[in-house]
Formats: sequence, structure tokens, C-alpha cells
Amino acid sequence: MRRLCAIALFVLCLLSPLSGCAPGADAPAYPGKSLPILMFHDVVEDEADANEWAITADQFRETLRWLDGHGYTTVLPRELAKGDPLPDKPVLLTFDDGYEHMLSLVLPILREYGAKAVVSVVGAYVEDKQPLLFLTWEKCRELEASGLVEIGSHTYDLHDQDNCLGRLPGEDEAAYQARVLTDLQTSIDGIETNLGTEALFFAYPNGSGDPWAADFLKEHFAMTVTTEYGVADLSGGLYDLPRINISPDEPVARVLPRALTSHWIKGLLTPPGLIVVILLAAAAAVLVTATCRAAQSRNRKKSAQQDKNRS
Ligand SMILES: [Zn+2]
Repeated sequence: MRRLCAIALFVLCLLSPLSGCAPGADAPAYPGKSLPILMFHDVVEDEADANEWAITADQFRETLRWLDGHGYTTVLPRELAKGDPLPDKPVLLTFDDGYEHMLSLVLPILREYGAKAVVSVVGAYVEDKQPLLFLTWEKCRELEASGLVEIGSHTYDLHDQDNCLGRLPGEDEAAYQARVLTDLQTSIDGIETNLGTEALFFAYPNGSGDPWAADFLKEHFAMTVTTEYGVADLSGGLYDLPRINISPDEPVARVLPRALTSHWIKGLLTPPGLIVVILLAAAAAVLVTATCRAAQSRNRKKSAQQDKNRS
């Protein structure tokens, strides 16, 4: 039994750093912590307009109802950038492209649940004067004034180019930086000038990045997200994090538990996870052996007593 206690203590010691600690200056912000980041694009009124990239307002309300009912709390990139402690079950809601429905349909539902979200705008869309389709700076200000919405970047005008943040054929690094980094800087300047807030969050258009833009993105943003599928592990920091798309066919009630299970299994296959599994298996083996020995000893004593009674 003493051996079992020693193993259990060792397992607890191994697990304790995974339960979170204060971030150091150079340490990842949230060692051992996971964050489901849900990806949305548009939210529409009519079911006929819903598709893989647009859910209805009712479906969005149902998403928040499910998250609320399962104990999730929404967080914002600016809170993560500050290193604020995470709630027990954090979730980040992200909206790409900056559709006007963010103000007319999404914000009222966020208010119903006191939920928060980040919307990543394409600077050129905001300034293209299509107020019925996309947010204007005025509407972005209204969203931010609610305290529930943060505005992030989705580039200034690279969104609709075939290669987005990718390189053009034959383009050298200097030409790439003059084209792409200037665009990103314009997006940052647009947010900071028009909203008076720092642009901390960046969503890769079409999920694509490039090593030539990586340093710039890390220097200028606190958090970046891709369109890779999965639950984000914050142990390595806040960059290039995967997301989970929510669509009419893949509602949160179905897709989030599935993503969390995959994430949990993936965690078990990492070296620390495997050590924990091996130690737990060893502890179980010791427990079973001790139980069997105790049963054998009881049986022996019982037989001896029966022999004694017979003789
Ligand atoms: Zn987009």
C-alpha cells in the first residue's frame, strides 16, 4: 500500500504544473491550458441564407444557450494578452470578415447572455462604403462601446487575393515585405486611428500564413488564429491557434465535445501524457495486486481456521 501512495504522490506532482501557474516574463502565457476557439463568419436571419459560413440568429442563440448551460465563459483576446486568469471553462468566439450582421443580429444575442466576441475586419471592406453588407468604422465603434466586442484584423486588402499572405510567383523577400507587411500595417493603423484601441488579434485570411510575415505578426499582434481544426493548446503561447467552425450541420453541441475528445486523446499521446498513463497503469496494477494478496491472505486464514475447527 505504501508503494501505491508513493506512486499516487508522484503522479500528483507530475500533474500539478499542468493545472496552471503564474506566467513568467518569458514563459508561455497559459502552460497546460486549452482553449476552444469557435469560428463564425456571417449570422443571417433566414434559414435559406445559412450555409457552412453562415448560421442563423436562432442557431447562434442556441450556441450561446448551450455554452452557458455547459458552464462555459467567453473570453477576449485583450484579456488573454494581459495574462488575465482563465475561467474554469473558457471559450473564445471569433467572427471573420466583419459583416454588418455583427451589429444588427449578433450583438443583441451577445447581450442576452453577457457573452463576448472578437470580430476580425478587412480594412478595405470597412472603408468600401457597403454599410448594408459590412461594418463601417462607426459601427465598429458602436460594437466596441458595448464592452462585449473587440475588433481584430483580417488584413487591409489581402483577403480576396488568391494567395492572401502567400508569396507571388518569383517574389523576393523585400518585394513580399513591401506588399504584405505594408498591407498589415495599414490594417493596424486603420483600427488604431478609427477606434482608438490597439489591434491585438489577427485572423489569417483563408488560414494561410508565410514565414516572411511571421516575425511581423508576432511583433504587432498578441494573438493569431488559423482555420486549422482543433482545440487550442495555450502552452506554446497565443500564436497560430486552431479553431472550430460552427455551421448549421456542425452545431456546437456536436462539434465541441468531439473536438475536446480528440484534443484529450492527442494530449495523452504526448510524452508527459504517456508518462501519466504509464504511472496510472502501474498504480492500478499495484492496487489490483495488493487487493488480490489481501484476498489470498483472508482465504488462507479462513482455511486455517476451518482446519483448526475440524481437528
Ligand atoms: Zn475571411
